[in-house]
Amino acid sequence: MSGADWNRPLWNNVLERRRRGAMPHALLLSGPAGLGKRAFAAGLAALLLCENGGDGACGRCRGCLLVAAGSHPDRVEVNLELREDGKTLRTEVTVDQIRRLSQRLSMTAQFGGHQVALIDPADLMNTSAANALLKTLEEPGAGTVMLLVSDQTSRLPATIRSRCQRLDFVLPNAADAMAWLKAQGVDGAAQALDAAAGNPGLALELARGGGLALRTEVATDLGQLWTRKAVPAEVANRWAKGDGERRTWFAAQLAQAEAAAQARGARGPLALTAISDFNKLAQWFREAGRVREQLRTPVRSELLLLELLLAWRALAPAARRA
Ligand SMILES: [Zn+2]
Repeated sequence: MSGADWNRPLWNNVLERRRRGAMPHALLLSGPAGLGKRAFAAGLAALLLCENGGDGACGRCRGCLLVAAGSHPDRVEVNLELREDGKTLRTEVTVDQIRRLSQRLSMTAQFGGHQVALIDPADLMNTSAANALLKTLEEPGAGTVMLLVSDQTSRLPATIRSRCQRLDFVLPNAADAMAWLKAQGVDGAAQALDAAAGNPGLALELARGGGLALRTEVATDLGQLWTRKAVPAEVANRWAKGDGERRTWFAAQLAQAEAAAQARGARGPLALTAISDFNKLAQWFREAGRVREQLRTPVRSELLLLELLLAWRALAPAARRA
């Protein structure tokens, strides 16, 4: 097996299906980013193309060597392509990419075994791409295995989802996540894991990418907006200039942790005065999620963030407003 230990049950599940000769033609690897879906998909593709096989790919046979070199003729991967400018990535998987994939899968495997296709991120296929893939999913060639990787499965059309066997990747328990983070050499693993709401991959990214400092800044901003010590337009402007999506994610996650702590009668990470209306706060979480989605596309991010921050400030109890 390759990838994190906490995915072992899923790995065993796939091995078991394979042993029974019931390997699905399409698997949907679903779950939040940071749980090892990509390593799992790569490991499974390698295993399917390995000429020896077992619990994992052998790493020595012709199939494994070609996979390692990125030139196995029966392995095809579809990712976001570069735009014509050759510098920036497209925001969608296009229909042309899926047509090329389908054409390739319609030919027989060159090595006589499986043909493996990885589509990642599958949820960024545009509508025509998804429609084009449906045909291939409905009539897969013998030995074809398609691995669709998705951090946001709800964005995939139901028609695609229903034609795949789904593997749900879930958060590991805290002890496994801590052990893994320590093995990656992360200092302050507990703090990073807490900031990542228990997601180890995200915790690693936070610890390495200066995320913890950013989270602290967001906590300060939310606290100051709550007590009207900060100006929403100024904060929105700063958030829009960099890391808007990450900041919004932290904001939603901090607010949620705050609400959970208050519900237990404890002090939360924002140390706010009592939240009076949990329904409105829940509404605000949903709004934050929507804003994050929109921040991925070219939009007037400053305005969106300003609206979100004004809504946040409006949640503060009236008595505290100066
Ligand atoms: Zn091998």
